[in-house]
Amino acid sequence: MKINIGKLTIGGDYIPIQSMIKNPVTEVDKTIQKIERLANIGCDIIRITVPDETAVSGLREVLKNVTIPVVADIHFDYKLAIMAIEAGVHKVRINPGNIGGEEKVKKVIDCLKEHNIPVRIGINGGSLPKHLKEKYVDNVKTMLEAAKEEVGYFDKYGYDKIVLSFKSSNVLETIEINTLAKKEFGFPLHIGVTEAGDKIDGTVKNSIGVGHLLLNNIGDTIRVSLTAPEEDEVLVGKKILESVGRRSPELEIISCPTCGRTEVNIENLVSQVKQATNFVKLKQRIKIAIMGCVVNGPGEASSANFGVACGKDKSIIFKDGKNLKNVNNTQILDELLNILKEYY
Ligand code: SF4
Repeated sequence: MKINIGKLTIGGDYIPIQSMIKNPVTEVDKTIQKIERLANIGCDIIRITVPDETAVSGLREVLKNVTIPVVADIHFDYKLAIMAIEAGVHKVRINPGNIGGEEKVKKVIDCLKEHNIPVRIGINGGSLPKHLKEKYVDNVKTMLEAAKEEVGYFDKYGYDKIVLSFKSSNVLETIEINTLAKKEFGFPLHIGVTEAGDKIDGTVKNSIGVGHLLLNNIGDTIRVSLTAPEEDEVLVGKKILESVGRRSPELEIISCPTCGRTEVNIENLVSQVKQATNFVKLKQRIKIAIMGCVVNGPGEASSANFGVACGKDKSIIFKDGKNLKNVNNTQILDELLNILKEYY
C-alpha cells in the first residue's frame, strides 16, 4: 500500500529518510534554516513536535517557508492534532492510546479525512497501554495487540491513509515486531531503533536493526534516532540505505584505516574532504580514495575515480587509475578539491 505525503510516496521503492527537529518550533527562523540544511543533505521528511498552542503558531510560520513535507508529532491533546492539520502539516503522528478515548480519536480522523492527509500511528515499546501489558506481558505481543486496537478505530471510521511504526530501543525486539507487523498489516512501516543512544551506539544499533529489516524488504521510511545533531541522523540514514543497496551513493570516500606506515593525518584529511563535499551536487557518481601510503594505496584504491596515496613529504595524486602528479603534502587537500570541481 502506498501513502502520499506532500509530493512524496511512502510505500514505494524509494525509502524516504526522516529526522526530527530538536529545538522548539517557536524558534521559527532557526527551524526553517535547519530544515533547509537537512533537505540539502538528503532529509526527505521532517517531524516537529507540537506540545502546545504556541507551537502551532510557530509551525504555521515554518510551513510557509520549507520545501519538504512536515509531520506534526502530537501527544495527549487531540485538539493540537486538529490545529496542526488545519495549519497545513503533511502528516500527523499520533499515539491513539494517549489521545484520550475513541470519541477524540474520531474527531482527529474526521479532520484527517477533510484535509486528506495521512497519519502515522506510533506504537512505542516504552508507552504501551496498561490493560494490554497486563494481559500479554511480552512486549512484542503487547505492541502488536496495541496496534490492532488502534488501527481498529481507523477501520471503524473508514480511514486507511496510515503509516505504522513500532519502536523499541532493543535491536532484536525492533526486528521481531516489524517482521510480525509486515505480515499482520498492509500499511507502510516507518522503522528505526528508538532511544538508540549517542552517535556511535545509535549508528551501530540502527545499522543492524534497520539494515536487517531493509535487507528483508521490511520498512518503507526510516528514522535513525541519535543523541546527536539532526544532520547526523540524516547522514547515517543515508549511509544505511546506501549500504543495503536502497540508495545509490553520489559520493563515496574510501579511506584506509592507517597503520605504522602512515605519514599524513588521514583522519583529518578524510574529515576535511567530507566536509567540503557535504552540500555539493555532482554530475555523476564518484569515488574518492584517501590512502595512507604509496605501498598499498594506489592498488587498493584502483576502483576510485581519483584520490591520493600519501608519502613522507610528497604524495601521489591519481586519477582514473593513472598517476596524475606528485604534490607536497601541504597541497593534498587543495589538489583533491580542485579535481572534485570537475564533477560539479
Ligand atoms: Fe597502512 Fe598503507 Fe594500508 Fe593505509 S594503505 S593501512 S598506510 S598499508
